[in-house]
Amino acid sequence: MAKKRRRKYRVKPRFFIIIAVLLIAMILFVKLVISVVGGLMEKESTPSVTPNNLVIAIDSGHDSQADKGAVAPGGINEFMLNDAVCKALKEELLNRGYTVIETRKLGSSEQKSLNERVRILNESWPDLLISIHHNANEDASVKGFTIIYNDKKTDAYDGQYVKYNSGVYKMIKEENGRLFYQDGTKEKSFDLEKNASKFQIFDLTSVGLVAESKAVADNLYASMSTLEFVKPLSEKKENTVINQNLQILRQAHVVGVMVECGFMTNEAELEQLNNADNQKATAKAIADGIDAYFKAKEKI
Ligand SMILES: [Zn+2]
Repeated sequence: MAKKRRRKYRVKPRFFIIIAVLLIAMILFVKLVISVVGGLMEKESTPSVTPNNLVIAIDSGHDSQADKGAVAPGGINEFMLNDAVCKALKEELLNRGYTVIETRKLGSSEQKSLNERVRILNESWPDLLISIHHNANEDASVKGFTIIYNDKKTDAYDGQYVKYNSGVYKMIKEENGRLFYQDGTKEKSFDLEKNASKFQIFDLTSVGLVAESKAVADNLYASMSTLEFVKPLSEKKENTVINQNLQILRQAHVVGVMVECGFMTNEAELEQLNNADNQKATAKAIADGIDAYFKAKEKI
């Protein structure tokens, strides 16, 4: 009995040690789980971008080389202000899930002629072009932003197109169950039935592009009118959203507008335009207008 009793006492400490080890292991395990779950929750609480399928082309006017654009006293060149707004706009749009392309690399010394910019746009098929400029006038009292569209859009691209294999091609014809399209200089085709879910045919018309560009301009006018530091050029909307025959808007077969963010020749306005917070506010307002346009079209 004594032996048995002693054995019992010998077993008990071991038992407690095992329980203690198990408890410590459990505590460590629970701590690990809490830290892992906490980490995941932290990641989830940071804003995640939901990408959409929309591509925005940002066109920063002029460059740091031969064509600096408008020049203001104190050595401020237009391209600097254009680049600053464009950089802020790019960040804002990426944060909202858009894909962004640039007709001229922002912040670089790259030079891009209007012809080259048009070529980039016509080859990359963005859903929208936003060209950013700053204005100048002989009359230093003139101030305010303007938004330009162009109703003289070239009809050279009017026709039927097919979106297929992440490219856009001019459609040639449908024949014997195949769709023929132009890929560069080559004529290619695919089986319509086998690829039923992989392509989309759409009509491109200059008239349609002009109407959409005007709709974008109206949305930008509404969102930019909320800015504190810069007001519309005129109290009349038709004098702020203006139709002007600009090459880039005429020759690019895209929905597009140009924003003149304000007047560099107005001393007080220039000071506001040359302010990083205001540049971000302009970018945010433009992005809000873009959102509103695509929401109305139920694309986002
Ligand atoms: Zn300009």
